[in-house]
Amino acid sequence: RAKSTGHNMYFVYENDMADNIDAHLTLGGGLRKAIEEEQFILHYQPKIRLCDEVVVGAEALIRWIHPELGMISPDQFIPLAEESGLILPLGEWVIRRACRQLQEWREAGFAPIKLSVNLSSRQFMQADLVDMVERVLEETGVDSEYFELELTESMLMADAQQSIDKLHGFRKLGLTLSIDDFGTGYSSLAYLKKFPIQTLKIDRSFIHDLGLDCDNDAIVKATIAMANSLNLKVIAEGVETRSQVDALNGYACEEVQGYLFSRPLCGDDFLSYVNGRSAIV
Ligand code: C2E
Ligand code: MG
Ligand code: MG
Ligand code: MG
Repeated sequence: RAKSTGHNMYFVYENDMADNIDAHLTLGGGLRKAIEEEQFILHYQPKIRLCDEVVVGAEALIRWIHPELGMISPDQFIPLAEESGLILPLGEWVIRRACRQLQEWREAGFAPIKLSVNLSSRQFMQADLVDMVERVLEETGVDSEYFELELTESMLMADAQQSIDKLHGFRKLGLTLSIDDFGTGYSSLAYLKKFPIQTLKIDRSFIHDLGLDCDNDAIVKATIAMANSLNLKVIAEGVETRSQVDALNGYACEEVQGYLFSRPLCGDDFLSYVNGRSAIV
């Protein structure tokens, strides 16, 4: 009996793996065509300033609208795009689409906000990345002060000196730079300050445990205090409850992002969301 259970478990595992490999091949194979046919959209999640709860920015998050499978999340296809190198054209599409969206919002009479996009590691290593971003900003007419890039600790650490040069290139263009998922890598804030960055996004795993675990609370509190004293703006990611907001307010966190305020929205819904909130205030 024990043997047959073991066998079944093995079987389940094997099927599972086959499914994963299947999905991998299906998605991976479709990615090139998907880029050609622009089967992607960006959603925008509001960033909220805590002192008055006004929307002060947004993060662009990509989704694949697959003709058969429907909406696919970036965690499922960004790694495939990285492996195949397709992240380079896809990443450029994201930056161009985000810039156009900023202009569309402006044409709709909407006061400009800062929009951030995520970079992936292979994209960050691309030699002409800074030139590409400059070109897209020029082409779309976006003022660089409204454009922000999100990078992770591991991307910066891979080749610190090269990263610093690249970040200075972006700073010369007038962009804002932020560290995403802060706390999940191995770098200290003191070390990170060697990089010309302006914003720290505290990973949502720390926010999730606020009020549940004293050590975690102490880490969040100390991180925000240190970031503030280093003149870095802090954003808490993944805020889902009022009590998390209250704790973050007490720690002098400047901005939050999370389902409590809004999920990522398509461009039109984002406008309605912002207009709806200013009507209430
Ligand atoms: P990220 O940059 O850390 O983005 C935040 C993720 O957390 C998003 O997932 C967002 O929908 C989710 N989130 C926001 N608020 C909450 C909350 O209150 N609770 C929970 N549970 N989740 C929340 P999403 O859109 O699935 O993106 C996942 C990751 O995929 C992103 O993590 C980012 O690393 C990557 N990604 C997304 N768009 C792009 C892109 O255009 N290019 C690249 N290279 N990577 C992207
Ligand atoms: Mg991000
Ligand atoms: Mg993040
Ligand atoms: Mg992430």
